[in-house]
Amino acid sequence: MIFPSDSSLRDEAKTDESDVGLYLHIPFCVKRCHFCAFYLVMQEEKRIERFLSALEVEFALYAAQQDFSGRPVSTIYVGGGTPTALSPTQLARVLKRVTKMFPLSKDCEVTVEATPESVTSAYLETLIDAGVTRLSMGIQTFVREERVRLGLSSPLEEATAGIGLVKQAGFPNFNLDVIYGIPGQALSSWDDTLQQACAWEPTHLSCYALSLEEGTRLEAAFRRGELKLIETDREKVFQETTTERLTGAGYGQYEIANWAKPGRACRHNQRYWQGQDYVGMGPSAQSYLSGCRFGNVANLDLYCRRLENGDLPVAEREQLSMSQQEKERVIFGLRMLEGVPITWLEKLEHNPTWEASLATLIEEQFVVRTSSRLALTVKGRQFADMVGAQLL
Ligand code: SF4
Repeated sequence: MIFPSDSSLRDEAKTDESDVGLYLHIPFCVKRCHFCAFYLVMQEEKRIERFLSALEVEFALYAAQQDFSGRPVSTIYVGGGTPTALSPTQLARVLKRVTKMFPLSKDCEVTVEATPESVTSAYLETLIDAGVTRLSMGIQTFVREERVRLGLSSPLEEATAGIGLVKQAGFPNFNLDVIYGIPGQALSSWDDTLQQACAWEPTHLSCYALSLEEGTRLEAAFRRGELKLIETDREKVFQETTTERLTGAGYGQYEIANWAKPGRACRHNQRYWQGQDYVGMGPSAQSYLSGCRFGNVANLDLYCRRLENGDLPVAEREQLSMSQQEKERVIFGLRMLEGVPITWLEKLEHNPTWEASLATLIEEQFVVRTSSRLALTVKGRQFADMVGAQLL
C-alpha cells in the first residue's frame, strides 16, 4: 500500500477556493553556503533598509490589485536568504505590515526560516508575539566535517544551541532541514544525523538529497573532478534508512522529501504541490495566480528601483492554457505520497501522447493507478523528476 493510511497527516485546515498563500523572499545572508544557489546578497544595514521600504511598496501594490485584494491569506512563508538576518524589530515590522495590508485567515500558518547562529531567546519571543506559528531551521548535518564541507557558517555547538533556543521558545510547529548525499558521507553518518534530529523532537523534518546547482562552489569542485556524488542505487539505500529511522520515530512521509508528526504537514508547501494560488514578494520570488505564473527580478537593486518608481518588479509572466494547468497540477501533485485524485486526469485523457506516456509509466511501475487515485510507487519517488518530464 503506497498511500498513507493516516489521514491526520494531511492538511487539517479547511482550504477555501479563494484563499491564497504569501511567500516573502528576504535576500540576505552572512556568507554563501557551498551548495546554495538561491538569490541572495551579503547582509548590510543600508541594503536591508532600502529593501524593507521597497517590500512595503510591493505589499501596497498587491493589496490594491483587484484579482488579489480581499482574498484571505491562509499561509505565509518567510524564506530566503536568511529572514533572521533582519533585526527582530525589522522582521516584526514586516509581519505587522502584512497583517495590516492583507486579510489573514484565523488559523493562518506563518513560517519563518532561520539559521541557528542568527537567533536569540529574545528574537524568538518577538517572532512568537508577531504571530509566527512555525519555525524552520536549516541544520543540514550534525557531523562536524560535513558542516565544513557544505560551508555552513555555524559550528556544530552553535547549531545545537540554536535548536535548543527554538525548543524553549515553544513554537507550535518546528522544522529541521537535513541533507543526505554530502560528498564523503557514509550511511552511518547520515543515520547519525537523522537520530540526532529526531532526538530534538521537531514536529516536521525535511530530508533533501544534495543536488549540484550551477554556479555553486560544490558544482565547481565537481567539474574539476575533486568530488563525487553518490550513485542512484546508493541514494536508494539512504532513502530506505530515512524511511526506517523516521517511521520508527513517529513521522509520516507526506511528500518526497517531507516528513511530519500527525497533523503537522507544512500547509504552505502543500499549496505548491496542489496547484493552489500563491504570490511571492521580494527579489526572485515566484508566483502562481489564477493560472498565471510570474517571477520577480533576481536583482536587489533593480527590484528596489522598480518599486521606488511605483512598478511591480515582475521579470517574466506566462499565462498557462487550461490543459497546461491540468497537467502541471498532476505532475506537482504526484510529489505528495497520497498522489492525485483520478478526477484530475479526466480532462487529460483525450490527449493520446499523454495517455501513452502514462500507460508506459504504469507498465514500468513508476506510478500506480487505483480506482480513485494515481500515485508514485517507491521506485517512482526516486525518479520523480523523470516521471514529471515524461508527463509534461
Ligand atoms: S544560509 Fe541558507 S540561504 Fe543562506 S547561503 Fe546558506 S543555504 Fe543559502
